[in-house]
Amino acid sequence: MKVLVAEDDLVQLRLLEVTLSKWGYQVLSARDGESAWRLLQQEEGPILAILDWMMPGYSGPQLSRLIRDQSAKLYTYIILLTARKDKESIIEGMDAGADDYLAKPYILDELAARIRAGKRILHLQEELVKAQEALREEAMRDPLTHLWNRRTIFHRLDAELRAAKASGQPVGVILADLDHFKEVNDTYGHIFGDHVLLETVKALQSALRPRDSIGRFGGEEFIAVLPQCGFDESISAAERLRVALASRHIKHGSNSVPVTISLGCTASIPGADHSLEILLRAADEALYESKRQGRNRVSALPVDLYMASLRPIDS
Ligand SMILES: [Mg+2]
Repeated sequence: MKVLVAEDDLVQLRLLEVTLSKWGYQVLSARDGESAWRLLQQEEGPILAILDWMMPGYSGPQLSRLIRDQSAKLYTYIILLTARKDKESIIEGMDAGADDYLAKPYILDELAARIRAGKRILHLQEELVKAQEALREEAMRDPLTHLWNRRTIFHRLDAELRAAKASGQPVGVILADLDHFKEVNDTYGHIFGDHVLLETVKALQSALRPRDSIGRFGGEEFIAVLPQCGFDESISAAERLRVALASRHIKHGSNSVPVTISLGCTASIPGADHSLEILLRAADEALYESKRQGRNRVSALPVDLYMASLRPIDS
Protein backbone atom coordinates (compact mmCIF):
# COMPACT_ATOMS: atom_id res chain seq x y z
CA MET A 1 0.00 0.00 0.00
CA LYS A 2 1.29 3.45 -0.94
CA VAL A 3 1.62 6.04 1.82
CA LEU A 4 2.55 9.67 1.27
CA VAL A 5 4.74 11.30 3.89
CA ALA A 6 5.11 15.07 3.67
CA GLU A 7 7.49 16.52 6.22
CA ASP A 8 10.02 19.36 5.78
CA ASP A 9 12.24 18.24 8.65
CA LEU A 10 14.73 15.88 7.01
CA VAL A 11 15.49 13.84 10.13
CA GLN A 12 11.79 13.32 10.85
CA LEU A 13 11.18 12.47 7.22
CA ARG A 14 13.93 9.84 7.09
CA LEU A 15 12.67 8.29 10.32
CA LEU A 16 9.16 8.00 8.87
CA GLU A 17 10.45 6.60 5.57
CA VAL A 18 12.51 3.91 7.29
CA THR A 19 9.79 3.02 9.78
CA LEU A 20 6.96 2.84 7.27
CA SER A 21 9.06 0.82 4.82
CA LYS A 22 9.85 -1.59 7.61
CA TRP A 23 6.12 -1.91 8.28
CA GLY A 24 5.64 -2.90 4.66
CA TYR A 25 4.31 0.33 3.13
CA GLN A 26 5.50 1.81 -0.12
CA VAL A 27 6.58 5.30 0.92
CA LEU A 28 6.36 8.37 -1.29
CA SER A 29 8.00 11.35 0.36
CA ALA A 30 7.82 15.08 -0.09
CA ARG A 31 9.50 17.93 1.74
CA ASP A 32 7.01 20.61 0.83
CA GLY A 33 3.29 20.96 0.24
CA GLU A 34 3.50 21.43 -3.51
CA SER A 35 5.50 18.25 -4.16
CA ALA A 36 3.09 16.40 -1.86
CA TRP A 37 0.14 17.67 -3.89
CA ARG A 38 1.77 16.52 -7.13
CA LEU A 39 2.38 13.04 -5.72
CA LEU A 40 -1.22 12.80 -4.53
CA GLN A 41 -2.53 13.60 -7.98
CA GLN A 42 -0.55 10.88 -9.75
CA GLU A 43 -2.42 8.04 -11.42
CA GLU A 44 -2.90 5.37 -8.74
CA GLY A 45 -1.32 7.73 -6.22
CA PRO A 46 -1.34 7.17 -2.45
CA ILE A 47 -4.69 7.19 -0.65
CA LEU A 48 -3.20 7.49 2.81
CA ALA A 49 -1.30 10.69 3.55
CA ILE A 50 0.69 11.69 6.61
CA LEU A 51 1.07 15.46 6.41
CA ASP A 52 3.16 17.72 8.56
CA TRP A 53 1.31 20.82 9.70
CA MET A 54 4.05 23.34 9.03
CA MET A 55 5.67 22.99 5.60
CA PRO A 56 6.73 25.31 2.79
CA GLY A 57 4.32 25.45 -0.13
CA TYR A 58 1.05 24.27 1.33
CA SER A 59 0.62 23.61 5.02
CA GLY A 60 -0.93 20.33 6.15
CA PRO A 61 -4.40 21.91 6.64
CA GLN A 62 -4.19 23.73 3.27
CA LEU A 63 -3.26 20.47 1.56
CA SER A 64 -6.12 18.71 3.34
CA ARG A 65 -8.52 21.29 1.97
CA LEU A 66 -7.16 20.84 -1.58
CA ILE A 67 -7.56 17.08 -1.30
CA ARG A 68 -11.17 17.38 -0.10
CA ASP A 69 -12.06 19.95 -2.76
CA GLN A 70 -11.10 17.69 -5.66
CA SER A 71 -13.74 15.20 -6.73
CA ALA A 72 -11.58 12.10 -6.57
CA LYS A 73 -13.12 8.68 -7.00
CA LEU A 74 -11.22 7.29 -4.06
CA TYR A 75 -11.09 8.79 -0.61
CA THR A 76 -7.72 9.93 0.73
CA TYR A 77 -7.23 9.30 4.42
CA ILE A 78 -5.28 12.14 6.02
CA ILE A 79 -3.29 12.10 9.25
CA LEU A 80 -1.89 15.48 10.30
CA LEU A 81 1.32 15.72 12.29
CA THR A 82 1.33 18.70 14.58
CA ALA A 83 3.45 20.22 17.31
CA ARG A 84 0.41 22.24 18.30
CA LYS A 85 -1.60 20.86 21.15
CA ASP A 86 -4.20 23.60 21.55
CA LYS A 87 -7.76 22.50 20.84
CA GLU A 88 -8.41 25.32 18.33
CA SER A 89 -5.57 24.12 16.07
CA ILE A 90 -6.79 20.56 16.19
CA ILE A 91 -10.33 21.65 15.32
CA GLU A 92 -8.93 23.75 12.46
CA GLY A 93 -7.00 20.76 11.08
CA MET A 94 -9.98 18.41 11.27
CA ASP A 95 -12.28 21.01 9.73
CA ALA A 96 -9.83 21.44 6.85
CA GLY A 97 -10.46 17.79 6.02
CA ALA A 98 -7.97 15.75 8.06
CA ASP A 99 -9.28 12.47 9.45
CA ASP A 100 -6.89 12.20 12.35
CA TYR A 101 -3.91 13.92 13.92
CA LEU A 102 -0.84 13.01 15.87
CA ALA A 103 0.85 15.45 18.25
CA LYS A 104 4.62 15.65 18.08
CA PRO A 105 6.52 14.11 19.69
CA TYR A 106 4.68 10.87 19.11
CA ILE A 107 5.65 7.28 19.70
CA LEU A 108 5.82 4.95 16.68
CA ASP A 109 3.35 2.47 18.15
CA GLU A 110 0.73 5.20 18.18
CA LEU A 111 1.49 6.11 14.56
CA ALA A 112 1.13 2.43 13.62
CA ALA A 113 -2.26 2.25 15.36
CA ARG A 114 -3.49 5.44 13.65
CA ILE A 115 -2.46 4.06 10.24
CA ARG A 116 -4.29 0.82 11.01
CA ALA A 117 -7.42 2.82 11.83
CA GLY A 118 -7.04 4.64 8.51
CA LYS A 119 -6.67 1.38 6.63
CA ARG A 120 -9.93 0.12 8.15
CA ILE A 121 -11.74 3.22 6.84
CA LEU A 122 -10.10 2.88 3.40
CA HIS A 123 -11.08 -0.79 3.27
CA LEU A 124 -14.72 0.09 4.02
CA GLN A 125 -14.58 2.76 1.34
CA GLU A 126 -13.20 0.28 -1.18
CA GLU A 127 -16.01 -2.18 -0.39
CA LEU A 128 -18.57 0.58 -0.79
CA VAL A 129 -17.20 1.62 -4.20
CA LYS A 130 -17.23 -2.03 -5.33
CA ALA A 131 -20.82 -2.47 -4.16
CA GLN A 132 -21.88 0.73 -5.94
CA GLU A 133 -20.20 -0.40 -9.15
CA ALA A 134 -21.88 -3.79 -8.92
CA LEU A 135 -25.27 -2.11 -8.40
CA ARG A 136 -24.72 0.24 -11.33
CA GLU A 137 -23.77 -2.69 -13.57
CA GLU A 138 -26.77 -4.68 -12.36
CA ALA A 139 -29.12 -1.78 -13.08
CA MET A 140 -27.95 -1.87 -16.70
CA ARG A 141 -28.51 -5.60 -17.17
CA ASP A 142 -31.52 -7.78 -17.75
CA PRO A 143 -31.73 -10.01 -14.65
CA LEU A 144 -32.38 -13.29 -16.50
CA THR A 145 -30.06 -13.10 -19.50
CA HIS A 146 -27.54 -10.54 -18.20
CA LEU A 147 -27.77 -8.83 -21.56
CA TRP A 148 -28.07 -5.03 -21.60
CA ASN A 149 -31.55 -4.05 -20.63
CA ARG A 150 -33.82 -2.00 -22.87
CA ARG A 151 -32.78 1.37 -21.48
CA THR A 152 -29.06 0.61 -21.70
CA ILE A 153 -29.15 -0.79 -25.23
CA PHE A 154 -31.03 2.36 -26.30
CA HIS A 155 -28.24 4.45 -24.77
CA ARG A 156 -25.69 2.33 -26.59
CA LEU A 157 -27.47 2.72 -29.90
CA ASP A 158 -27.75 6.44 -29.33
CA ALA A 159 -24.03 6.68 -28.53
CA GLU A 160 -23.13 4.60 -31.60
CA LEU A 161 -25.27 6.83 -33.80
CA ARG A 162 -23.53 9.94 -32.49
CA ALA A 163 -20.09 8.34 -32.98
CA ALA A 164 -21.13 7.23 -36.47
CA LYS A 165 -22.24 10.75 -37.33
CA ALA A 166 -18.78 12.03 -36.43
CA SER A 167 -16.90 9.27 -38.27
CA GLY A 168 -19.21 8.98 -41.30
CA GLN A 169 -19.76 5.26 -40.66
CA PRO A 170 -23.08 3.40 -40.73
CA VAL A 171 -24.63 1.55 -37.80
CA GLY A 172 -26.65 -1.62 -38.27
CA VAL A 173 -29.69 -2.45 -36.14
CA ILE A 174 -31.25 -5.89 -35.86
CA LEU A 175 -34.45 -6.76 -34.03
CA ALA A 176 -34.97 -10.45 -33.35
CA ASP A 177 -38.00 -12.26 -32.00
CA LEU A 178 -38.12 -15.92 -30.94
CA ASP A 179 -40.72 -17.77 -32.99
CA HIS A 180 -43.72 -19.26 -31.18
CA PHE A 181 -42.22 -18.61 -27.78
CA LYS A 182 -45.62 -18.48 -26.11
CA GLU A 183 -46.29 -22.03 -27.27
CA VAL A 184 -42.92 -23.19 -25.93
CA ASN A 185 -43.84 -21.69 -22.55
CA ASP A 186 -47.35 -23.14 -22.63
CA THR A 187 -46.18 -26.62 -23.67
CA TYR A 188 -43.01 -27.03 -21.62
CA GLY A 189 -43.44 -24.51 -18.80
CA HIS A 190 -41.75 -21.25 -17.91
CA ILE A 191 -38.61 -22.80 -16.46
CA PHE A 192 -37.90 -24.41 -19.79
CA GLY A 193 -38.91 -21.11 -21.42
CA ASP A 194 -36.18 -19.34 -19.43
CA HIS A 195 -33.73 -22.05 -20.47
CA VAL A 196 -34.67 -21.45 -24.11
CA LEU A 197 -34.05 -17.72 -23.67
CA LEU A 198 -30.61 -18.38 -22.19
CA GLU A 199 -29.68 -20.81 -24.95
CA THR A 200 -30.90 -18.29 -27.51
CA VAL A 201 -28.68 -15.62 -25.99
CA LYS A 202 -25.67 -17.96 -26.16
CA ALA A 203 -26.36 -18.65 -29.83
CA LEU A 204 -26.84 -14.98 -30.68
CA GLN A 205 -23.70 -13.93 -28.81
CA SER A 206 -21.64 -16.57 -30.57
CA ALA A 207 -22.65 -15.11 -33.93
CA LEU A 208 -21.90 -11.46 -33.10
CA ARG A 209 -18.59 -9.60 -33.26
CA PRO A 210 -17.02 -8.47 -29.98
CA ARG A 211 -17.72 -4.82 -30.77
CA ASP A 212 -21.46 -5.43 -31.31
CA SER A 213 -23.90 -4.87 -28.48
CA ILE A 214 -26.93 -6.98 -27.76
CA GLY A 215 -29.80 -6.25 -25.41
CA ARG A 216 -33.10 -7.75 -24.33
CA PHE A 217 -35.73 -5.56 -25.88
CA GLY A 218 -38.75 -7.24 -24.31
CA GLY A 219 -39.91 -10.73 -23.33
CA GLU A 220 -38.47 -12.77 -26.22
CA GLU A 221 -37.27 -9.85 -28.31
CA PHE A 222 -33.65 -8.87 -28.70
CA ILE A 223 -31.86 -5.98 -30.31
CA ALA A 224 -28.35 -6.00 -31.73
CA VAL A 225 -26.42 -2.81 -32.47
CA LEU A 226 -23.67 -3.24 -35.06
CA PRO A 227 -21.17 -0.39 -35.30
CA GLN A 228 -19.66 0.24 -38.74
CA CYS A 229 -22.14 -2.08 -40.44
CA GLY A 230 -23.98 -0.89 -43.53
CA PHE A 231 -27.22 -2.29 -44.88
CA ASP A 232 -25.80 -5.37 -46.67
CA GLU A 233 -23.46 -6.26 -43.81
CA SER A 234 -26.37 -6.01 -41.39
CA ILE A 235 -28.37 -8.46 -43.48
CA SER A 236 -25.43 -10.91 -43.44
CA ALA A 237 -25.10 -10.46 -39.67
CA ALA A 238 -28.84 -11.09 -39.18
CA GLU A 239 -28.58 -14.21 -41.34
CA ARG A 240 -25.69 -15.44 -39.16
CA LEU A 241 -27.87 -14.94 -36.08
CA ARG A 242 -30.75 -16.83 -37.69
CA VAL A 243 -28.53 -19.77 -38.67
CA ALA A 244 -26.83 -19.85 -35.24
CA LEU A 245 -30.21 -20.45 -33.67
CA ALA A 246 -31.81 -22.65 -36.33
CA SER A 247 -28.89 -25.09 -36.14
CA ARG A 248 -29.45 -25.55 -32.42
CA HIS A 249 -32.06 -27.88 -30.96
CA ILE A 250 -32.77 -27.38 -27.31
CA LYS A 251 -33.18 -30.54 -25.25
CA HIS A 252 -36.15 -31.01 -22.95
CA GLY A 253 -35.92 -34.44 -21.36
CA SER A 254 -36.03 -36.87 -24.23
CA ASN A 255 -37.52 -34.22 -26.52
CA SER A 256 -35.51 -31.98 -28.76
CA VAL A 257 -37.32 -28.70 -29.23
CA PRO A 258 -36.52 -26.80 -32.41
CA VAL A 259 -36.22 -23.08 -31.76
CA THR A 260 -36.09 -20.49 -34.51
CA ILE A 261 -35.99 -16.75 -34.69
CA SER A 262 -37.39 -14.07 -36.98
CA LEU A 263 -35.27 -11.02 -37.69
CA GLY A 264 -35.66 -7.57 -39.10
CA CYS A 265 -32.78 -5.28 -39.87
CA THR A 266 -31.82 -1.88 -41.17
CA ALA A 267 -28.82 0.41 -41.05
CA SER A 268 -28.20 4.10 -40.77
CA ILE A 269 -26.97 5.92 -43.86
CA PRO A 270 -23.67 7.75 -43.36
CA GLY A 271 -24.17 11.48 -43.45
CA ALA A 272 -27.93 11.28 -42.85
CA ASP A 273 -29.24 12.27 -39.46
CA HIS A 274 -31.56 9.43 -38.39
CA SER A 275 -33.17 9.31 -35.02
CA LEU A 276 -32.84 6.18 -32.96
CA GLU A 277 -36.61 5.85 -33.12
CA ILE A 278 -36.77 5.83 -36.92
CA LEU A 279 -34.14 3.07 -37.13
CA LEU A 280 -35.95 0.97 -34.56
CA ARG A 281 -39.24 1.45 -36.35
CA ALA A 282 -37.72 0.46 -39.71
CA ALA A 283 -36.16 -2.66 -38.14
CA ASP A 284 -39.48 -3.45 -36.46
CA GLU A 285 -41.32 -3.10 -39.74
CA ALA A 286 -38.83 -5.54 -41.32
CA LEU A 287 -39.25 -7.94 -38.39
CA TYR A 288 -43.00 -7.85 -38.92
CA GLU A 289 -42.44 -8.75 -42.56
CA SER A 290 -40.35 -11.80 -41.54
CA LYS A 291 -43.17 -13.01 -39.32
CA ARG A 292 -45.77 -12.38 -42.00
CA GLN A 293 -43.73 -14.43 -44.47
CA GLY A 294 -43.64 -17.45 -42.17
CA ARG A 295 -40.89 -16.74 -39.59
CA ASN A 296 -37.35 -18.17 -39.28
CA ARG A 297 -36.15 -15.61 -41.79
CA VAL A 298 -34.46 -12.25 -42.21
CA SER A 299 -36.13 -9.19 -43.73
CA ALA A 300 -34.47 -5.87 -44.26
CA LEU A 301 -35.85 -2.40 -44.84
CA PRO A 302 -33.64 0.52 -45.92
CA VAL A 303 -34.27 3.40 -43.57
CA ASP A 304 -34.76 5.95 -46.37
CA LEU A 305 -37.42 3.73 -47.94
CA TYR A 306 -39.14 3.43 -44.59
CA MET A 307 -39.05 7.21 -44.12
CA ALA A 308 -40.47 7.73 -47.59
CA SER A 309 -43.34 5.37 -46.76
CA LEU A 310 -44.25 7.60 -43.84
CA ARG A 311 -44.70 10.72 -45.99
CA PRO A 312 -48.20 11.47 -47.17
CA ILE A 313 -48.63 10.66 -50.86
CA ASP A 314 -49.32 13.71 -53.03
CA SER A 315 -52.53 13.33 -54.95
MG1 LIG B 1 7.35 21.13 9.60
